[in-house]
Amino acid sequence: NQGIGSWPARRARMTPDKVALSYRGRDYTYRDLRERVNRLASALDVRRGDRVAFLGANQPAMVETFFAAGLLGAVFVPLNTRLAMPELRFILDDAEPAVLVLGAERDGAGLPGRHLTAAAYEDLLMTGSPEPIDAPVGQDDVCLIMYTSGTTGRPKGAMLTHANLTWNTVNLLVDVPLAHDEVTLISAPMFHIAALAQTLIPSVLKGGRAILEPSFDVGRTFDLIESERVTVMFGVPSMFGLLTRSERWAGADLSSLRHLLCGGAPVPEPLIRTYQDRGLTFLQGYGMTETAPGALFLGAEHSIAKAGSAGVPCFFADVRLLAPDGSPAAPGEPGEVYVEGPNVMPGYWRRAKETAEVLSADGWFRSGDIGVADDDGYVRISDRINDVIISGGENIYPAEVESALYEHAAVAECAVIGVPDEKWGEVGKALVVPRPGAEVAPGDLLKHLDGRLARFKIPKYLEFVAELPKNAAGKLLKAPLRKLYGG
Ligand code: AMP
Ligand code: MG
Repeated sequence: NQGIGSWPARRARMTPDKVALSYRGRDYTYRDLRERVNRLASALDVRRGDRVAFLGANQPAMVETFFAAGLLGAVFVPLNTRLAMPELRFILDDAEPAVLVLGAERDGAGLPGRHLTAAAYEDLLMTGSPEPIDAPVGQDDVCLIMYTSGTTGRPKGAMLTHANLTWNTVNLLVDVPLAHDEVTLISAPMFHIAALAQTLIPSVLKGGRAILEPSFDVGRTFDLIESERVTVMFGVPSMFGLLTRSERWAGADLSSLRHLLCGGAPVPEPLIRTYQDRGLTFLQGYGMTETAPGALFLGAEHSIAKAGSAGVPCFFADVRLLAPDGSPAAPGEPGEVYVEGPNVMPGYWRRAKETAEVLSADGWFRSGDIGVADDDGYVRISDRINDVIISGGENIYPAEVESALYEHAAVAECAVIGVPDEKWGEVGKALVVPRPGAEVAPGDLLKHLDGRLARFKIPKYLEFVAELPKNAAGKLLKAPLRKLYGG
């Protein structure tokens, strides 16, 4: 078993007594992690290829479920805890997991299928055997399905293989010289690819200690950096921005930090400088769920000289920028970003059509992002082809919000755009043409969205307008809309 599920056991062979995970003041050594993963894998009644879903914040059970599924050749499906009930049900119906493991803070009310609550999980684990399991698992087996929404508004499961995640780890380690004694703070949610693949997995590979936090909290972050001497942190730009706006920023002891990984959205230059003034340099990256995630990487030494850029392709990945006619974009010219390499997903779960739209026969993945390369090949991500709004590291697909708005009888027409926001990078703004004569206020429509959509997707602003700009064919034009209302 060369799969990622075997990694806790491989690590425990080398460093059984080192702490693998810390959570709420409790430490789990690599020996503990190996034993718990073995027990869970032997007790879980799942077969190769079955899906094992997890709904909960960062906690040891999430890590154990990921590795135990991998050990069995089963597929880990982490769910975004911020999703509303109908959104979760859609994904569970699509993934059809053999079991849904629940974090300690969740109950499974209203969700389909077989559930394992936290109490039942501990009981089950104790019935399992601590002996290693030897299931046939290949590098090209799928070990993870991570859902991302689409332009159509329907979430799709990006399938990632053991090989995808392994090569991403290699790519990361080529650029980031992680040592065996790193203390990694994981407060970004592991149901997103970055925290899982850029922090947890490399930490286990190197035998470091990962501190799991159920959510990002500014005060806790400073406390932990200081008391645990944290050396590695990953965050989206808005998290790093929140730290600088805290009253604790000026007096905090940040001397333990060695590697600050930042990605998911462009890092604003002033933020780079604010950290630089404290002697801290970001390692920036660009990637996406479908590429496990690393595609471009900007090392610390180029952080200032190439500020605004997301870097050059990772060692074992290739990136092309193509003009709309398919020819390579010249330096300085925008082109769509395509990615190829051992980290690129084999496709979306049960979505042959959507897979064919983004993956060519020769393995190039079409990102939907626009990039511009400079003369040295450093790529700046300048735009997105689809209208996705990135708000505090979460993606908001306007089509999804618009279709929820259309379910309200008073909405004749609507469009959702992203507007700049100091805290979140971007937030959603809805422009609605009400049906003539409808007795409705903007607040009614926001209330209508509540419970239908995750809270982060609910527009921060909602404005009634008389009409929306369209082209001759009647197609809504988002660019003029952004110009009119995006300020
Ligand atoms: P996701 O599919 O949720 O993993 O989000 C991936 C998307 O985030 C990419 O397609 C980009 O649009 C955006 N993104 C990620 N990293 C960066 C970055 N460094 N700069 C700009 N956009 C980014
Ligand atoms: Mg995406």
